[in-house]
Amino acid sequence: MISPKIRRATKIVATLGPASSEPALLEEMIRAGVNVVRLNFSHGKPQDHVDRARMVREAAQRAGREVAIMADLQGPKIRVGKFAEGKVMLEPGAKFVLDASRQEPGDLLGVGLDYKELPRDVKPGDVLLLNDGLIVLTVDAVRGDAVHTTVKLGGELSNNKGINKKGGGLTAPALTAKDMEDIKTAMSFQADYVAVSFPKTATDMEMARQLCMVAAAEYRHRPGLIAKIERAEAIPHLEDILRVSDGIMVARGDLAVEVGHAAVPALQKKMIRMAREMDKVVITATQMMESMITNPVPTRAEVSDVANAVLDGTDAVMLSAETAAGKFPLETVLEMVDICAQAEASADWDNDTDFVGKTFQRIDQSIALGALFTATHLGAKALVAMTDSGSTALWMSRHRTQIPIYALTPKVATQRKMALYRNVRPLLMDTSADRDTALAQAEVHLKARDIVQSGDIYAITCGEPMGSPGGTNMMKISRVI
Ligand code: PGA
Ligand code: MN
Repeated sequence: MISPKIRRATKIVATLGPASSEPALLEEMIRAGVNVVRLNFSHGKPQDHVDRARMVREAAQRAGREVAIMADLQGPKIRVGKFAEGKVMLEPGAKFVLDASRQEPGDLLGVGLDYKELPRDVKPGDVLLLNDGLIVLTVDAVRGDAVHTTVKLGGELSNNKGINKKGGGLTAPALTAKDMEDIKTAMSFQADYVAVSFPKTATDMEMARQLCMVAAAEYRHRPGLIAKIERAEAIPHLEDILRVSDGIMVARGDLAVEVGHAAVPALQKKMIRMAREMDKVVITATQMMESMITNPVPTRAEVSDVANAVLDGTDAVMLSAETAAGKFPLETVLEMVDICAQAEASADWDNDTDFVGKTFQRIDQSIALGALFTATHLGAKALVAMTDSGSTALWMSRHRTQIPIYALTPKVATQRKMALYRNVRPLLMDTSADRDTALAQAEVHLKARDIVQSGDIYAITCGEPMGSPGGTNMMKISRVI
């Protein structure tokens, strides 16, 4: 296994859970390469999340790295109710009734619903997929609150398993009352990203933005918003959703159930391409290293999946149960680091020159891409962005380049947010001095970290006057003496 010190541009998101909640282990995982820690708001009380966030910040500090915290909202609970025996075994061909008004626990003939709207959302002929598609029911009739079905694909159905409708069409709103409270909790510890589950349209994301803004106002915080693309309805609205979000997650778990799993690889490529073209970030998620929940090594297919997401251009690859509940959380991170690094180093990863033909209205964006163009042509050792908001580093990182991008920012919140950006290494630096002093300080920083050495060329962007967001208006090409 290659040492975690190896150069790696693709970022790793790891979900926190019982398997990774020991502070020393979490610190090890961050040292090994975790860039973003995902807190799953489907589990735990508000105070648990506050405590977990503090544990992450402390572990990151001990590791000497800044990581971003992503609060992943639960979203609507589209689930069946509970069973008297905890579960039933459904046989193919059997009749099964999903009844929204059923009070008594479920049995072989039927079960109640957490999701009361289901009878209004379905009609005869619809296909319902339960437990991530492991159980398939077809709707025969809807009578009042009862959905009468026939079991097509049987199996064990246990308490509170999820329900998806093939092709989409469930009306549950993306943001529940619980999510609204959870946003407040997440803003109280200034979560760097908020992930919204099951959005269908841009309006869902705009609503989440509004709620975050209100909840974060007193902390003067602005989280990045990630739309989890996991509903069939979201696909035709991708462009609008991207426009009002900071990024998307290719949430392959639920998405595969709604659109059919064979459709997902092409959608993954399309989503990654669209996100990058629109200057947004993208996370590829779910089952990436699934077998490592129980095994110390990944399957060949998993290795290929992670490597292909890297080659597609994803900003980050995500671990869910592998780090939250698996037996080998640290080993999984180390494996992923190795796979990312080797995929990036492969010949298939060419420099991207498509931006040469692009037009820009913004001065700061033109400078960012001018620096990228120049650095590429000169074979520069580093691209350096002095940035307040992180935008310059984001623009540079939307293009394929083997040149590492170093983002120097005076703001910790910006540094953490950039932890998710592909090929960006965020560093904290006071940029309050005048321009020439700050440029000299930047070079001292780069040399001290062995990023550049005598004779190396680097391209650096900054704004004059210093320290105003969106103010980047100059670049300098320097040769280190
Ligand atoms: P989840 O989202 O893990 O919160 O369900 C990701 C997915 O559906 O793939
Ligand atoms: Mn999901």
